[in-house]
Formats: sequence, structure tokens, C-alpha cells
Amino acid sequence: MARIGFIGLGNMGLPMARNLLAAGHAVTGYDLGTRAREAAAAAGITIRPSVGDAVRDAETVLTMLPEGRHVRGVYLDQEGILARVPSGALLIDCSTIDVDSARAVAAAATARGMAMVDAPVSGGVAGAAAASLTFMVGGPEAAFTRAEPVLRAMGKAVVHAGAAGAGQAAKICNNMMLGIQMISVCEAMVLARRLGLAPEKLFEIAAKASGQCWSLTSYCPVPGPVPTSPANRGYQPGFAAAMMLKDLRLAQEAAQSVGAATPLGAEAYQLYALFNAQGNEGLDFSAIIHMIGGTSV
Ligand code: NAD
Repeated sequence: MARIGFIGLGNMGLPMARNLLAAGHAVTGYDLGTRAREAAAAAGITIRPSVGDAVRDAETVLTMLPEGRHVRGVYLDQEGILARVPSGALLIDCSTIDVDSARAVAAAATARGMAMVDAPVSGGVAGAAAASLTFMVGGPEAAFTRAEPVLRAMGKAVVHAGAAGAGQAAKICNNMMLGIQMISVCEAMVLARRLGLAPEKLFEIAAKASGQCWSLTSYCPVPGPVPTSPANRGYQPGFAAAMMLKDLRLAQEAAQSVGAATPLGAEAYQLYALFNAQGNEGLDFSAIIHMIGGTSV
């Protein structure tokens, strides 16, 4: 059992913190939002009045925040985590952010003699609630070894991706593949229908052929073939189109920073930007099939 300070108790952070409590850890926390603080307190998390207070006696700190700028602020501000956490604490950032911010914060932590990993997740809110997340971890081996048992209380898989920032790199690359593959499945389903081939038939065939991928067989964007996919519940997320757009933007920024050519990633980013701009931010990302097919959700 460890004393854990948890910053960012939103849609993902709260269920993750609940699982840490269930594993026997003592969790103190802070969130900017009143409702998030109230929900966390109701779940048994000890809410303190600021970031610094929430981590002042923590052995391990977890953060689950929206963007790189929030992570930089929470760690690097004058009254932030690095200034207030006891030396020797382990720092784990589970947010999905840009690689540069992840590396900058890790370098600042290392300069103060602290161990830090970036550990973004795959699995969404349902995975967070069920403690079945996949963690992609970047940081030194010794820090990974310390982080692994804490992360195991919230996930089913914990993979050491490499040095600082490698967890974010893995997450961004994975979700770029996901976005591109979802669009490819949507295009094929729309084309099949126009050619007089039932989408269910295409599913049956492609699921056993070389078009097979997760977006088809686990998350099919047409209702029917995969009963658990959001297509069967009015495209309620799941994984919101706004989140997919964020991850594709991070992938484009990362690609530009190293001069990597990602033409399909760029196209996927543009298509999801258009889909979001049409007011679909809150729908599941698989609902883009309607924009591609020219139909309404
Ligand atoms: P969220 O907006 O529900 O939660 C973020 C929380 O951080 C909010 O409650 C907000 O008030 C709090 N916050 C922001 N700035 C803060 C600060 N300075 N101090 C304290 N609290 C602060 O978002 P979420 O869905 O929980 O996502 C969190 C991260 O997880 C994001 O980086 C997201 O990309 C990633 N992620 C989300 C999902 C998902 O399905 N929701 C899946 C995988 C990864």
C-alpha cells in the first residue's frame, strides 16, 4: 500500500483512482473542477485544496490531465508537483500529450533527482472503470520497475516502450493507425453498399480476409455485425471524435518535428477536423461513416 497523490479526477482519472483505492492504496487528490472534486470525495478520495497540498506527503503521484500545457503547469509551476512532492517520490503521467512536453517534464523531474515515467493509456473510460487499461510506459528501467505494480492495479497490460516520451510516441502512433483504419473501413462499407453488397456480407468476408483489422472486427462502424460497437447505440462514445482529432493532431505535430512523412495520417486529421467542425465532437469516432457516406447520424 502506498500514499498516492492523484491530480486530474475527470472521466478517466476518477475511475483509475477508484481502482487504486480498491487495491488498498491511500489516495489524496485535487481537480480544478468542483464537480470532479465532489465525485472524487464521494468515492473515498481525500480531496485537498491545491495540487501542492495533494502531493505534499505522496510516495507516488499520478496525473491524468487534458493536454501538454496542463501537464507542464501542474508539474512545473511554482507551487506545482516538483516543488512540493517529497524527494524520492515516483511520478507517473498518464495523460495523452505531445512527446516534447513529456520529455521536458521528465527532464525537470530527473534534474531534481526524481523518477518519472510517461504512461498514456488505451482502453477508454470503460477500461478505466474495469481496471483493464493498457499502459505504454516511457522512462528509465528503474522507474518503470517501480511504476509497474501501481499501474497493474488499473490495467491488464503494462508495456515498457523505451526512454522518456516513448509511451507518448507509442500512443500517438497507435491512434494514428486506428484513425486511418477506421476511415478505410468506413469507405469500404459505403462503397460496398453502393455496389449492392450488404455491409454485413462485406464484414463476414473481410473479417476472414486481408482487410481484417480492429476497426472492423471489434468496432464495426455499421450496426449489426459487432453488437458491442457504438454503431449499435446511436454512436455514443466509446472514443469521442474530439479525442481522435486530438490524437491525430499530436501525431501530425510529432511527424513534423522529426520530418516523418505521414500522408494518410494528415488526411485522417483533416477528415476528423471536418467531422468535428460539423458539430460531431461528442459522437463516437466511428460515426464518421455518415460523413463519408453522405448520410446523417
Ligand atoms: P477530462 O477532461 O474528463 O479530465 C481531465 C481533468 O483534469 C478535468 O476534471 C479537469 O478539471 C482536470 N484539470 C485540468 N487542469 C487541471 C489542473 N491544472 N489541476 C487539476 N486538475 C486539472 O478528460 P479525460 O477523458 O479524463 O482524459 C484525460 C486524459 O486521458 C487526456 O489526455 C485524454 O486524451 C486521455 N485519454 C482519454 C480517454 C477517454 O476515452 N476519455 C482514453 C484514453 C486517453
